[in-house]
Amino acid sequence: PELADGWLRVCPDPTALLLPKTPEHQMSEEELLTRRNDAFATVQEHYYEEPPRIERGWRQYLVDTRARGYLDMLNNVTILGHGHPVLSDAVHRQWQRLNTNSRFHYASVVELSERLAQLLPAELDTVFLVNSGSEAVDLALRLAWATTGRQDVVAVEEAYHGWTYASDAVSTSVADNPGALESRPPWVHTVAAPNSYRGRHRGEEARNYGPEAAARIAALAAEGHAPAAFLCEPYYGNAGGMALPDGYLEQVYAATRAVGGLCIADEVQVGYGRLGTHFWGFEQQGVVPDVVTVAKAMGNGHPLGAVITRREIADAYRTQGYFFSSAGGSPVSSVVGLTVLDIMRDENLQANALEIGGYLKRRLVELGERHPLIGTVHGCGLYLGVEFVRDRMSLEPATEETAAICERLRELGVVMQPTSDRQCVLKIKPPLCLTRDSADVFVAALDDVLTYGW
Ligand code: PLP
Repeated sequence: PELADGWLRVCPDPTALLLPKTPEHQMSEEELLTRRNDAFATVQEHYYEEPPRIERGWRQYLVDTRARGYLDMLNNVTILGHGHPVLSDAVHRQWQRLNTNSRFHYASVVELSERLAQLLPAELDTVFLVNSGSEAVDLALRLAWATTGRQDVVAVEEAYHGWTYASDAVSTSVADNPGALESRPPWVHTVAAPNSYRGRHRGEEARNYGPEAAARIAALAAEGHAPAAFLCEPYYGNAGGMALPDGYLEQVYAATRAVGGLCIADEVQVGYGRLGTHFWGFEQQGVVPDVVTVAKAMGNGHPLGAVITRREIADAYRTQGYFFSSAGGSPVSSVVGLTVLDIMRDENLQANALEIGGYLKRRLVELGERHPLIGTVHGCGLYLGVEFVRDRMSLEPATEETAAICERLRELGVVMQPTSDRQCVLKIKPPLCLTRDSADVFVAALDDVLTYGW
């Protein structure tokens, strides 16, 4: 009885949500906004003019305090879907038994580390457990510095890797960090954003990005700045979920290794089967990195991350550096990590990403044939991006339109978010349990907005 029409439209089993009111209902909208502005430091208010007060979730659906339902089409972390009963039971049982810091020895920490290593090529056999993607990237850079004894790092333009000191330094996206350029430390060098849709090299010409980046790395070495590491996402997240040009990582990794540097694959966004074709993004490029970072999906929203590397790199770091994380690899975190992997396997979520993502992309491409604002549809599996342009020749970014489309979609019951340095890409990263029906609901809502206006 409490559920609004919007909810009934998107959720086939609304009874799953007829639960008692929660403490979220006790604070008025006005009080929440005043107290939030006073007490809570956030920079994320631009997502929506009026962010919905999400109060609970179930699979790919969310509900706000007014009992309005939404389809969650952008969830960077909740890969299994919301409120997964197997995960919440496992966490509950572990919390009741024990949670403490990682000074003691637990079987679950060992099992999680082994399971991660088994999912990776054999040489990547040593695991550090941390609490976030930023920490993972920071640690990956420290490993490279300790192993090579050098400081320079090469990153790609228009990328995001986190907010801690080192991960922020290599985050070159001006959308995420407007001061990125001015605050960039001298040890950070960049290569062009490998964007095959609107970068310096488009379409077929995108194959030039790899050799150009390789030449830049060789030139840096010749100038006495041989990089300790080359770091990038193996699937281009800030572009809205876009494949790197064919052969890009092979060429850049070869150039980095030729001058003694390490190759870091930041899998924090793409990680865990989202592409459908592979479990890891770097596998699509046919390369093996020296260091892999993972977070987000790893804990399905619980703070959990990891750095996986080769034994000799971990040893080189241990002789010089220090690693201890109070909660990284705690008993509860380890159970979360293991249970997420079990559910991914038991529910065939990677296969679902391939099937439903393929279907959704075909439908979005069809939509693009009727709506000229859609410049292109990037991506693969359930990691897609719809890029809006005012003109398909000049590719003028439709930034304001994208923000307005997001607002209108929210009114229709779909939550999303613009991305890219031009904020003109609707990023599509739903939980991997998305169904064909939900994909249809989303396409119908977008069609509606593009047909009748925003
Ligand atoms: N690396 C990538 C590619 C990311 O997208 C992010 C977060 O968006 C991070 C690292 C940082 O992760 P976290 O927010 O968990 O610190």
